[in-house]
Amino acid sequence: MEKVILLRPYFSHTIWGGERLRDEFGYDEPGNDIGECWGISAHPSGESIVMCGEFEGLKLSKLWDSRRDLFGNAPGDRFPLLVKIIDARDDLSIQVHPDDEYASVHENGSFGKKECWYVLDCPEDGHIVLGHNAADREELESMIDEGRFDELIRKVKIRKGDLVQIDPGCVHAITAGVCVLETQQSSDITYRLYDYGRLQNGKPRELHLDKSKDVITVPDPSASERIRRAPEDAENEPVRLISCDRYEVSRVKVNGECTFGTTAGFICASVINGSGHVHDTPVVKGSHMLITAEGAKTVRMTGNMEVILSDV
Ligand code: ZN
Repeated sequence: MEKVILLRPYFSHTIWGGERLRDEFGYDEPGNDIGECWGISAHPSGESIVMCGEFEGLKLSKLWDSRRDLFGNAPGDRFPLLVKIIDARDDLSIQVHPDDEYASVHENGSFGKKECWYVLDCPEDGHIVLGHNAADREELESMIDEGRFDELIRKVKIRKGDLVQIDPGCVHAITAGVCVLETQQSSDITYRLYDYGRLQNGKPRELHLDKSKDVITVPDPSASERIRRAPEDAENEPVRLISCDRYEVSRVKVNGECTFGTTAGFICASVINGSGHVHDTPVVKGSHMLITAEGAKTVRMTGNMEVILSDV
């Protein structure tokens, strides 16, 4: 069984995207509006494709359907995770996601969307939108109805290396200059709450105010509960960044060689800095891969690089 399966990402072009995913991550993707690189995705809105080896050319969803043994015979009718890199040249709209229960009723059986961001880069005084200031549902609704978004939203400082957990119901937005690696449930359900009054092709983009009001958590938990940092100096062993009911995410800084055992049926891995090998497969910054059941038991990495790992 192959231990590592490299994946070719799907790219999403957006009004707020830029050129950094090509210039800094080396992706061969034309355009100056590249907003998202879906590195590990089996979502129908944009799938990763196996780059080489026995399964070359196959979509990740097909691999999941036909060769579940590669995934440690994990259960489920859909590959559960989606890993992407988001590069914001401009502010993203302010949004919120539903949970599984709401999405299954209101969005044709889709998964809800729980997500987390590992901050790859941000401006010196970087911030994101995270949470809101409404005391109760009545105040939330009147702030939305009256368009008092400056009062409603919370801005929170971030630094490179922060991990931000975004539960369903949490109002959030990435702002200009911020680049993150997002690990999320495999879902594309987003309710747009506010778009700063911007126009696209002369028209405002659609907002989803009623659904947003339905799903926003009130009152909002403190933002400090949602941001955490791993120890900077940990090397050659995975450091857990977040563990929740939908995913576990770790970071490993490889300096020379490291070997570690896991109980995961499969692992999603993305190289965010440097280069090296995962088992015998050469990888560079921007590489995304599946470490199969065979490779996940004992993972061996060599080189000088930083890798974000996730599993369910
Ligand atoms: Zn989101």
